[in-house]
Amino acid sequence: MVYTTKRILLDKRPSGFPAVENFSIDTVTLPQLNEGEILIKIKYLSVDPYMRNRMNKAKSYIEPYETGQPISGDGIAEVLESKNEEYKSGDIISAIVPWQEYAILSGNPYKIPSADNYITEYLGILGLTGLTAYFGLNKIAFPRSGETMVISGAAGAVGMAAGQMAKIYGCRVIGIAGSDEKCAFLKNTLKFDTALNYKTSKNLRKAVKQAAPDGVDIYFDNVGGEISDSIMYLLNDFSRIVLCGQIALYNQNRLSLGPRLNSLLLIHRVKMQGFIVYDYRDEFPAAREQISEWLKNGKLINRETVISGFDQILTAFLNLFQGKNTGKMIVKIA
Ligand code: NAP
Repeated sequence: MVYTTKRILLDKRPSGFPAVENFSIDTVTLPQLNEGEILIKIKYLSVDPYMRNRMNKAKSYIEPYETGQPISGDGIAEVLESKNEEYKSGDIISAIVPWQEYAILSGNPYKIPSADNYITEYLGILGLTGLTAYFGLNKIAFPRSGETMVISGAAGAVGMAAGQMAKIYGCRVIGIAGSDEKCAFLKNTLKFDTALNYKTSKNLRKAVKQAAPDGVDIYFDNVGGEISDSIMYLLNDFSRIVLCGQIALYNQNRLSLGPRLNSLLLIHRVKMQGFIVYDYRDEFPAAREQISEWLKNGKLINRETVISGFDQILTAFLNLFQGKNTGKMIVKIA
């Protein structure tokens, strides 16, 4: 059978905040399958903040997107046709896929077990964002029971997972998020000890200090910028900063330097370490098993924001920078 598909391409690299004008949509006919390839129908796509950085032509841990080529990212798809003996029609896979309705893949994408009730979870809590939370805590923060952890971007995909995991490890958790609804979700549903709305707080540093009278032992940073500056003054001796993401800076053409806070890190012997979740690729299966067990026994609660329709992909992506998601932002394609 011959398949035609819509594709979303990077047209012009964004300067500052991305907009729909930076992208274009075309329709192409897919070629016939070669040996080793599968034809997939994409069911769900993940939109993620890191994609903004890949739209710049800058050196990073991952190659930039090429202009004139489709954006790609994590997706869940159904195999329609296969010339790879490992896969058959009807299999559900999780893989890096282009922003298309249909695509041809080679390689060995992860086959989601047919007995598994989880599907979209593989784009979030059982996928890269859940794993990011898990490895940020277990490889950098080393949380101990009774410690206080502050987390920015707390109601997002990584944030809500990291905060709940820190609770499992016995920490007191303070989440920072951008709306009262998100803060109510963090406190009432996820049982964070405190949730602070950075958009309405007149003095975030004072508010965190009140919530953490004994200081901060772990700062799980998803955001950077002024929110992070306000935490630096509250860090305890030998505290740890998990440098996970800096979304507040992704749309800045030039990095604002802000106050120089390194002396605070020195005085308090703070460890600050960046990481990329793929550093721990070999340990993904064991981590997934643990996260899946927490999900099954109710210790972890999952939340997703699902938007429907291929034509909504760009809106979903742009909405990440407006805080319109709680938990993982996912687009349902088919
Ligand atoms: P997410 O938190 O689900 O979505 C983004 C959220 O960031 C928004 O909902 C918004 O929430 C907040 N935000 C957006 N612009 C902001 C700004 N200017 N200042 C403060 N908050 C802002 O995204 P995610 O997938 O969980 O990713 C969170 C962070 O982790 C990102 O920085 C991402 O790049 C990073 N990350 C790192 C790795 C790694 O391997 N190191 C892996 C995955 C993700 P509010 O309503 O609260 O503003």
